[in-house]
Amino acid sequence: MGRNKKSNVIEIKNNVIEIRNIRKDFDQQTVLENVSLSVRENEVVVIIGPSGSGKSTLLRCINKLEKIDDGKILIDQEDIYRKDINNNAIREQAVMVFQHFNLFANLTVKKNITLGPEKLQGLSQQESDELSETLLQRVGLLDKKDAYPENLSGGQKQRIAIARALAMKPKVILFDEPTSALDPEMVGEVLSVMKETVKGGMTAVIVTHEMNFAKEVADRIIFMDQGKIVAEIAPENLDASHENQRISSFLQKIV
Ligand code: ADP
Ligand code: MG
Repeated sequence: MGRNKKSNVIEIKNNVIEIRNIRKDFDQQTVLENVSLSVRENEVVVIIGPSGSGKSTLLRCINKLEKIDDGKILIDQEDIYRKDINNNAIREQAVMVFQHFNLFANLTVKKNITLGPEKLQGLSQQESDELSETLLQRVGLLDKKDAYPENLSGGQKQRIAIARALAMKPKVILFDEPTSALDPEMVGEVLSVMKETVKGGMTAVIVTHEMNFAKEVADRIIFMDQGKIVAEIAPENLDASHENQRISSFLQKIV
């Protein structure tokens, strides 16, 4: 007998990211200590926490923009700090969207999106045209295909940065405060593209201060403080988590 979708079959999903007891030092300072976190396929994990708590460093360790000093990080079961591993391959699997967009200023919007897959995945001209059309349509910027980043608004730049990240067909997308550098009127358009992206079935780790957004998209919310994960909060409990003193004083500061 066939199983319909509503039956109570427990789906076992793999961990796309597995972070085990990592430590990261800068000079004499330990900025990540004993951090462990697993993210399953299509799970959306939001990380919150005060400035300097290690959120960016954690994301940067996941795609090897920084190197860990102890522990392990596996992506799709593979140890990304294994000696013989190709760092470009890691950055194809875990792509980052930065606070300050980091678009290539000397390249058109289309080229910004297709450069990575052309170089690393050997896309043909036709595939590359199709890919950029699809993604530009998805982020609502098809008409900007031939524009240069300097002629885009901040919100548009960030939507292009998201399209560029998706072009790699990554296993996981990492967002590091993607709306914090934007004028307030542009935050909504970027959050809405992010929402569509992750709701469409994507594994994501998102650092953000947008609490309403977090409650809407997150499967889990992780609170970091002083280089450690100090709490995990179910999104529906975020407003009630005020009994935890550190979380509550953080939330009071940002709203
Ligand atoms: P968050 O993203 O939560 O604001 P960060 O991960 O940027 O925090 O920073 C965590 C700590 O690591 C801070 O104390 C910061 O000053 C320090 N740090 C981050 N990057 C570097 C670096 N490249 N060199 C030295 N210290 C750094
Ligand atoms: Mg940061």
